Amino acid sequence: MSSHDTSLKALNTFAIVADATEIITAHSPDDLVAAWGTAQKAKRPFLLLGEGSNVLFLENFAGVVVLNRIKGIEVTEWTKDWLLHVGAGENWHQLVVYALSHNIPGLENLALIPGCVGSAPIQNIGAYGIELQSLCEYVDVMNLETRDVIRLSTSECQFGYRESIFKHDYRDGYAIIAVGLRLSKNWQPKLTYGDLTKLEPASVTPQQIFDSVCQMRRSKLPDPAVTGNAGSFFKNPIVNIALAEKLKRQYPTMPYYPQKDGQVKLAAGWLVEQAGLKGFCLGGASVHQQQALVLINKDGATGDDVKALARHVRNAVAGHFAVWLEPEVRFISACGETNAVEALS
Ligand code: NAP
Repeated sequence: MSSHDTSLKALNTFAIVADATEIITAHSPDDLVAAWGTAQKAKRPFLLLGEGSNVLFLENFAGVVVLNRIKGIEVTEWTKDWLLHVGAGENWHQLVVYALSHNIPGLENLALIPGCVGSAPIQNIGAYGIELQSLCEYVDVMNLETRDVIRLSTSECQFGYRESIFKHDYRDGYAIIAVGLRLSKNWQPKLTYGDLTKLEPASVTPQQIFDSVCQMRRSKLPDPAVTGNAGSFFKNPIVNIALAEKLKRQYPTMPYYPQKDGQVKLAAGWLVEQAGLKGFCLGGASVHQQQALVLINKDGATGDDVKALARHVRNAVAGHFAVWLEPEVRFISACGETNAVEALS
């Protein structure tokens, strides 16, 4: 376990300037428990952070930030599949690269998603037609008070669209320490999104999909190492069919994705763009010029700048389309996570 200086700027991909009272790196479950004990003893808030790729710090954090850096990738080969047991602190993209280089396909659509493996189930990360839940075999979560480790099966994780039990019942006082992924040897390419539809299903390789996904992401999404951002700021709204059909009549080119439950997914980025907000700036924050779903730290943005911009975007989209966007990014105030929708209302 090691302590750092107290600046969070390099620890959140938005590059928002904020401080914590203390920042601790945890390399093992014991380190997590010790850090939890430190925070409890000092009666301070406790925040677990992976790589800070999906958070917005609204102000200084008045407590202990713990960086989960538990490492390790163990591969078990079975007749029909591989099981990867991965430490929560492994970098997600490096895991995708590792799997490909060991001829284990299945993760390639999820290349270049920023963040740690331990954060992936919290968000149920997804891109280009694949969500973590379809690959996740289990999640090991530790009770920081009792040290008990519980293995949750996929169904127990209660995955949904950017949703899981880790945002609710296992949010406070628990830490994800490892994730189990099952990757089938009967690999089937998933080629339903964007440039992937141009690839030949019969001959395409996992490497070609990986390359295409990396190329698409790099061309559209700002690199957080250059321009602070937290990827998609809002979730794609799922609306009832009556509203979706009404909007489709008004805007025939509107992307429209019927869901299994009869509702319809709309593309949040398209709604923001149609509201005329591409490139719109407020304080140091801006709507990204290439991909309107991404808010960026253009010029020394504060958490308040990004919040004000997000509120403006949300109100403008509601004004145009009667659809209220919900943030995908998690808002962190002085004492911990705060309800992002309420913060924008
Ligand atoms: P896009 O191709 O411009 O499409 C816009 C939205 O429409 C996507 O968000 C996607 O929803 C939906 N969509 C597109 N093709 C679809 C299809 N064939 N079937 C069902 N839904 C479809 O999207 P993009 O912004 O470049 O993103 C491409 C992928 O990367 C998406 O899956 C997106 O979620 C993912 N991504 C995620 C983040 C993040 O920070 N979470 C950032 C960038 C990209 P879904 O989002 O539901 O897939």
